[in-house]
Amino acid sequence: MAVLVTGGAGFIGSNFIRVFHEIHPNENIINLDKLTYAGRKENLKDYEEKIFYQFIKGDICDSGLLSELLLTYKPRAIIHFAAESHVDRSIANPESFVLTNVLGTFSLLEESKKYWTQLMPKEAEAFRFLHVSTDEVYGTLELDSPPFTETTNYQPNSPYSASKASSDHFVRAYFHTYQFPVLTTNCSNNYGPYQYPEKLIPLCLSRALEEKPLPIYGDGAQIRDWLFVEDHCLAILKVLDQGKCGETYNIGGWNEKKNLDVITTLCEHLDELKPRGDKKSYKDLITFVKDRPGHDRRYAINANKIKNEIGWTPKETFETGLLKTVKWYLENENFLNSFKKN
Ligand code: NAD
Repeated sequence: MAVLVTGGAGFIGSNFIRVFHEIHPNENIINLDKLTYAGRKENLKDYEEKIFYQFIKGDICDSGLLSELLLTYKPRAIIHFAAESHVDRSIANPESFVLTNVLGTFSLLEESKKYWTQLMPKEAEAFRFLHVSTDEVYGTLELDSPPFTETTNYQPNSPYSASKASSDHFVRAYFHTYQFPVLTTNCSNNYGPYQYPEKLIPLCLSRALEEKPLPIYGDGAQIRDWLFVEDHCLAILKVLDQGKCGETYNIGGWNEKKNLDVITTLCEHLDELKPRGDKKSYKDLITFVKDRPGHDRRYAINANKIKNEIGWTPKETFETGLLKTVKWYLENENFLNSFKKN
């Protein structure tokens, strides 16, 4: 048996492949990734020679390649992570977000549907297409609003979230129109090993280690619901196994934190684990910078559906997950350094 993972050289995709292999050691994993600036083949360097793992450099917009891969490897499932994922980049260059997130997802749906249609009934019944999406499609919350549920209206505010919302709608339409067996997950902010250092936590870690200012947008009071990446991966696996086709599952950590508090805690861990030469706190490096246009104030996920219907809850608290994360980056400083050379 095999699964096809798209975007498996990125942050969550590479963590997912590791988690998947631990739970399904006998299954083959095909990793299709274009290796954009965010893709890093070395995230799975220790898998390169393994017989169960196959890396394919390619674009999800390439229908011919998709069709060939599906017929060659005959996956029982597709887990779709590939995307342009950084909000700031979507503000500067929205086109690549439309190309990959909307048109790429469309190509993947279309080729997967063709493949699924010609499977034998038993294989077709077991086949799943799992689309990994974000809580940002729901827009922003007031401080006193209840967290997003699966029935919250879509109100995307950035080109990134608009492109993800569009892809979610296509996925939904393929179920309703063609009964194509899809599952969608909408997850909150992830953190953990192998995250590209343009995102808040690895960016601040990387800069702190170089004694550079730690940039915080606006007043730093934007609230996000933080989830340790391995918990997200375990949730995806559970949805893949037990989720009901056509359904959406929100995934969150029940960990609402202000950006400023996240970075303050990060600095406290660094003070403990790698004190600065002059014994000052890393907190002194925190600097407020001009806010991002249209910056959403608050995201929060109500993750009761996945808990009640599938039995998933996160294993890590924010405190344990962040400590693990800081330790990982300190033990793997070559990860952050590899971006500095490029
Ligand atoms: P990432 O930017 O780290 O990785 C994306 C990967 O996709 C990279 O390896 C890149 O090379 C690959 N890719 C990009 N365009 C491609 C294309 N056209 N064809 C093939 N591969 C392509 O992103 P991430 O943070 O790992 O996010 C993965 C998925 O999870 C995305 O769909 C994102 O929307 C979603 N998500 C992320 C978060 C988060 O906090 N990071 C939260 C919720 C949902």
